[in-house]
Amino acid sequence: MNDFLPFLGICIALLVIILLVVAFSQRCDRCGSLSFGFSANKGFNKALAEAYRVCKVCGHQKVTGTVAADGAVLWFAGGRGHVDSEGQYTHVAGAVDGGGGDSGGGGE
Ligand SMILES: [Zn+2]
Repeated sequence: MNDFLPFLGICIALLVIILLVVAFSQRCDRCGSLSFGFSANKGFNKALAEAYRVCKVCGHQKVTGTVAADGAVLWFAGGRGHVDSEGQYTHVAGAVDGGGGDSGGGGE
């Protein structure tokens, strides 16, 4: 049974490494903030048809999706949403095919 703890340690270490790699590959282009990939504000520009992730540290905007004139948002990563005329964003549940990562919200 003593084999379990090292195994758990390796699993945790692998998870941490994966998280770090993801964080590093998605870091802010301008200030290098590693939290950019996990926690960023959203921004939209209907005139340019661009949807952004906005860095909470420096305000850098990175184009990560498109927004249509009617407010339909399509993220390059696969998610979908809608932004109303006041800039309020709503995620469209169940729009992600494969990959996952966005579940767990539950119905209303
Ligand atoms: Zn930044």
